[in-house]
Amino acid sequence: MKTAEIIAIGSELLGPSRVDTNSLWLTEKLSDIGVEVQLKTIVGDDGARLEEAIADALKRADIVITTGGLGPTEDDITRGCTAKALGRELVYHDDIETILRERFRAWGREMPEINKRQAFVIEGADILENPRGSAVGMLTAVGKKRVINLPGPPRENQPMFTDLVLARLKELVGEVFIERRLMKIVGMGESAVDEMAAPIYTSFEGVQTSILFNKTEVELQIAVRRDSQAEAETTADELTARLADAFGIAMFTTTGETMEAVVGRLLSERSETVAFAESCTGGLVSRRITEVPGSSAYFLEGLVAYSYPAKVRMLGVRQETLDEFGAVSAECAREMAEGALKVSGATHAVSVTGIAGPDGGTDDKPVGTVFFAYAGPSGTRSIKLLLPGDRYLIRWRSSQAALDLLRRSLLRQ
Ligand code: ATP
Ligand code: MG
Repeated sequence: MKTAEIIAIGSELLGPSRVDTNSLWLTEKLSDIGVEVQLKTIVGDDGARLEEAIADALKRADIVITTGGLGPTEDDITRGCTAKALGRELVYHDDIETILRERFRAWGREMPEINKRQAFVIEGADILENPRGSAVGMLTAVGKKRVINLPGPPRENQPMFTDLVLARLKELVGEVFIERRLMKIVGMGESAVDEMAAPIYTSFEGVQTSILFNKTEVELQIAVRRDSQAEAETTADELTARLADAFGIAMFTTTGETMEAVVGRLLSERSETVAFAESCTGGLVSRRITEVPGSSAYFLEGLVAYSYPAKVRMLGVRQETLDEFGAVSAECAREMAEGALKVSGATHAVSVTGIAGPDGGTDDKPVGTVFFAYAGPSGTRSIKLLLPGDRYLIRWRSSQAALDLLRRSLLRQ
């Protein structure tokens, strides 16, 4: 597999005022043609550092791409530094100067003398025309390797890369087909997911895996590289099936769906409905389920019953239950779910009640204690979780656990 490194040039990119987005965009495009970006560097406007960075990158990678620093000013040093790193001269191109002069004239101006700098090109490099700006790009073959200099502004370098570079890199790399899958797992940490997944994905050749924790779920992404589209798809299907089998119900999607979309799909398929009774999530579960277009087909109502009287009045929770066990209890969660089921007439109801903090925790029920209940055709069932994190995360994780309780109940029916 061919590898690449990207060097973003410009002192402004080192600070917080300007973010290097070029490398992100390029990484995705390269990945699409089967080139793996292994390292990216940001270099300030320092000639020695830049020359070093380019020379080092070229030792390691098949393809080195720089962005920025091709302008006409003193701090635009990419041209000279790349030439030095490659041990080549800069060659003056009259035709580039002519084009630049014409372009300035068309704008009603004379070309400033410093723009002549932009007519220097690395010896042996192919010129990449830039109809959107004054700096041409360069593509230099160094043996089997390639060094590519692109201008900094995305509106200039993106079309230059797509129109003039991509096809030539494809040719260099050969035709490679990549099939990606995004799986999501709930109720397990990143390391536990990797422990379970690694023996499976490492038994496949040409597969890249990334595992990311995302607030309430673990994302497991695979990219299968093969010589034909059909092979890539078959292998991706097989690997996905084996992973899905290993994770069982904890894997809630193999196609990158959100939890709320999965729950919505399950309800739609069954032509069933749901209602929520929320306390500590304050409507977050209802908000999430309604993020999905078409949710009116299965979502009937969400009741936010925050206070004791609201729980009694809206959901029929018994005062004695609250007095004896408190609102954060399995008993209260069960009565909330059963109450929501009754008042809404939905097929299923799920409740959430807990302590999101930072205050209100006790020895018995520390911050993060959350009770959930499901009520539906199969009866009522409650669970208790101790969720880590700050108020924001506890509420988010609670909403996820509530939706997941519904999902598991639907699948178990
Ligand atoms: P120009 O001829 O326009 O000066 P240049 O190649 O010299 O082109 P720079 O001067 O380095 O490019 O950058 C010009 C502008 O391009 C920056 O102000 C910034 O807005 C954008 N830019 C540069 N590098 C990046 C980057 N890595 N990611 C996103 N934007 C960038
Ligand atoms: Mg510049």
